[in-house]
Amino acid sequence: MRLILLGPPGCGKGTQAQRLTEKYGIVPLSTGEMLRAAVKAGTPVGLKARDIMARGELVPDDVVVQIVSDRIDQPDAKNGFILDGFPRTVAQAEALDATLDQLGRRVDAVIYLRVSRQVLIDRLSHRYCCRTCGAVYTFTPQQARDLPRCAADGGELYQRPDDRPEIVAHRIDVFLTHTAPLIDYYTAQHKLENIDGQMSVDEVRADITRRLSALRKGAGSR
Ligand code: AMP
Repeated sequence: MRLILLGPPGCGKGTQAQRLTEKYGIVPLSTGEMLRAAVKAGTPVGLKARDIMARGELVPDDVVVQIVSDRIDQPDAKNGFILDGFPRTVAQAEALDATLDQLGRRVDAVIYLRVSRQVLIDRLSHRYCCRTCGAVYTFTPQQARDLPRCAADGGELYQRPDDRPEIVAHRIDVFLTHTAPLIDYYTAQHKLENIDGQMSVDEVRADITRRLSALRKGAGSR
């Protein structure tokens, strides 16, 4: 199964990608994670992306398209993948369709997680991540004064530079301008599953798996 998780920053793409990976045994591919790893390693891509990411802008299409095209051709992605944070522009979506076409594959479904602007700002301003494993936590400003270590591996927790409130607002605008047109793009392909991302994590996961089961049954009976 080849899935795309679509939605604004803070809608829960990363959390749901992790759950779906466990359920379906397909690899999660987060362009944000790949780019952060490149920045940390100081690779040429990382050097190019660092300041762009800190400003909350989009890394150029050709850079991310190349990363994803290389990655989806790896053996572990042959059975399927969940793209989290890609595509983010219509040009990226067209490039993905062309790459998959060449490989004789296609996107099965696009899960769009709908969340209001205020909820996104609240979630991201209070989000902290583990430097080592990437686990995500939510803390009030009071709790954040004395941050604990990561419960999973004891790693240091930090706030992503692009999760600061002024950058978050800009990232949401970037989503509305550049990424929201993908809602129409995938609706026209009859692939969009529109889901209320403001439900609890478990309710969202249940809704996604219910819809994917229905799609698989439909595909099987055709
Ligand atoms: P994320 O972790 O998905 O929120 O991504 C963090 C940042 O990485 C974004 O704000 C962009 O600067 C960059 N990024 C991630 N994925 C893409 C993409 N598909 N196209 C362009 N930039 C991206």
